[in-house]
Parts: sequence; structure tokens; C-alpha cells
Amino acid sequence: MINLESLYQELILDHYKNPLNKGLSKNPIASVHHVNPSCGDEVDLNLELDGEMKLGVTWDGIGCSISQASTSVLSDLVKGKSSSEALGIIEAFSEVMSSKGSISGDPELLGDAVAFAGVSKYPARIKCALLGWMALKDAMLQAKLID
Ligand code: ZN
Repeated sequence: MINLESLYQELILDHYKNPLNKGLSKNPIASVHHVNPSCGDEVDLNLELDGEMKLGVTWDGIGCSISQASTSVLSDLVKGKSSSEALGIIEAFSEVMSSKGSISGDPELLGDAVAFAGVSKYPARIKCALLGWMALKDAMLQAKLID
């Protein structure tokens, strides 16, 4: 039997050590700074939009491995998606995070983000996992892509 929990832990650590899309872009359509005071996590997130209304996310941050890895996964997941697709992904992830471990998440929709499903059993860490996702939702609101 493969131990899924440790497999997921490796995936989270890998994103933490080799974050994707880290480094803020120069011409964002929205720029936000979110903090999770209970853990000391911080994320700056820049939202970009290409000529075909597809999203791009770059970010920078400091904090625990869950917050930083989750933002890395998110930035990769929404790349090239429309804002309504991205919103659907954010909502699906939020649902997993509020499920106390009862929803594992659809890997087709959430990709590597299913690795964080186990975090939903630890209330103190949920805000870590959601930090980047809430920052993206805020940036999409500021850019008036969603309402
Ligand atoms: Zn944290």
C-alpha cells in the first residue's frame, strides 16, 4: 500500500522548495497582499490577464510550507483558465477545506491541490492552505472579473 499522506507531504514539500510562478510580474491588473496572522504567513499576489481573457498569477511570500506550497499549486492550476473556471476551482477547494476531512476533492478539477485535503482536519492550518486562494479571489474582485 502506498501511504497517501506521506506522498502528499512530499508533494507539498516539493512545491515549498521549488515554488511555481514565484516572483511578481511587472504589469498586473490587480495586486493584493494577504496575511494570516495566526501563523505569520504572507502572500503578495499579482493577477494578469492575456488577450484571450485567460488568467495568470505570480506571487511572492513568506511563511509555513502549507501556505507557500498551496499558493504555488494554485498559481499553476489557474494559469490559462478563464475567471469563471478559476472561481469554480477556488470554490471547490474552499469546500474541501471546510469539510473537516470528509471531502477529498476532485483531482480532475483540483490537480495537486487535493494534496491539501488532509489539512482540513486541522482547523489551525486551514487559513494557511487558503491564504493564496483568498488572495486570488480578492484580486479577481478588485479587477472586476467576478462580483
Ligand atoms: Zn501557515
